[in-house]
Amino acid sequence: MNYELTSEQKMIRNLMRDFAEGEVAPGADERDRTKRFPKEIFEKMGELKLMGLPFPEEYGGAGADTVSFAIAVEELSRVCASTGITYSAHISLGCAPLYLFGTEEQKQKYLVPLCEGKTLGAFGLTEPNAGSDAGGTKTRAVKEGNEWIINGSKCFITNASYADFLALTAVTGNSQGKREITSFIVSTDQPGFRVIDNYEKLGLHSSNTTELVLENVRVPDENRLGEIGRGFKQFLITLDGGRIGIGAMAVGIAQGAYELALQYAKERTQFGQSISKFQAVAHKLADMHMKIELARTYVYKAAWLKDQGRKFTKEASMCKLFASETAMWVTTQAVQILGGWGYMRDYKVERFFRDAKLTEIGEGTSEIQRNIIAREIGC
Ligand SMILES: Cc1cc2nc3c(=O)[nH]c(=O)nc-3n(C[C@H](O)[C@H](O)[C@H](O)COP(=O)(O)OP(=O)(O)OC[C@H]3O[C@@H](n4cnc5c(N)ncnc54)[C@H](O)[C@@H]3O)c2cc1C
Repeated sequence: MNYELTSEQKMIRNLMRDFAEGEVAPGADERDRTKRFPKEIFEKMGELKLMGLPFPEEYGGAGADTVSFAIAVEELSRVCASTGITYSAHISLGCAPLYLFGTEEQKQKYLVPLCEGKTLGAFGLTEPNAGSDAGGTKTRAVKEGNEWIINGSKCFITNASYADFLALTAVTGNSQGKREITSFIVSTDQPGFRVIDNYEKLGLHSSNTTELVLENVRVPDENRLGEIGRGFKQFLITLDGGRIGIGAMAVGIAQGAYELALQYAKERTQFGQSISKFQAVAHKLADMHMKIELARTYVYKAAWLKDQGRKFTKEASMCKLFASETAMWVTTQAVQILGGWGYMRDYKVERFFRDAKLTEIGEGTSEIQRNIIAREIGC
């Protein structure tokens, strides 16, 4: 067993730390206030070959591993979780299904521009009546000649305003009494396709969360992603990988809040001494540090299993569940350690606290992760 990062993983950590602190952190508070999406950050990440980090070089990627991807998400989220989720969704929801299930032509046409950072990746699964029960999709695709006509809607879709195209799921029929779900690659400028970006969110204000409306959207059969009826299985596989990204995002948020709380606790004096000397505060910081280390270790384990080509469904759920609950707990403690200042925008930890909540919801809620783990251990 080797807990040491490889030299490449260390290099990516250093690169991402510099990039996050130099390019992402400075405007993070302002973007949180103005809700501005930082397109320029992702253009720069494209220039650095980060937008296709874990995909092969032949598709414009950097050929790095999943551990490196987790490190990249963590470092972005340590300073700005909105940037972290945008990048995580781009890689694990936007690019991954194309890489895993696309034909060679589809990869050249769609994966390459994503990896080169020319457009952002997105994935349309959730619907107003199909969230945790994503198999309850109502969006329908009906075949007419060599085309599919898609009608329906999707909600809470990350990045779609900045995506030239995205993969989404639709019901294409019934087989043995079960809905047959198929994935399609749809251009966002297709007539009948509308992307609406007007949610008022708790946090992640500078990430893009959208509603999609599809009215008689025509998609050629060559844009079908994988076989008819494979959509359900495909999104389960996609979400397994995505959960490593959300786990890494949660570790980054927790780390960022912990560092701010530790620094504040050392500097703040009450009753004639640094508050970090009060055991109640010191123990909180010790627990924060410990939980973050455990969450990070488990995110890397899930990523490592994926890189080995081993089954990682249970580990992806466990890392996402543990890391997201850690992020929520750590950010709550961070606000507490800063007292009244923790409640104020200027001290940043309230942004981490608001942003952390999404990690317990997106890509499967904590309840759904527990269901998956229970199923995997044979309950
Ligand atoms: C900011 C943001 C970004 C997102 N990005 C995307 C995206 O890019 N693409 C995409 O497709 N989706 C995206 N989502 C959607 C997200 O994955 C869903 O919100 C999530 O899966 C939960 O679905 P729901 O909101 O419909 O809640 P529901 O499924 O309605 O759940 C409501 C509550 O019931 C509980 N519950 C439901 N079923 C069970 C059960 N079987 N056992 C126990 N408890 C249960 C849930 O845990 C939850 O507490 C995003 C969401 C947000 C908020």
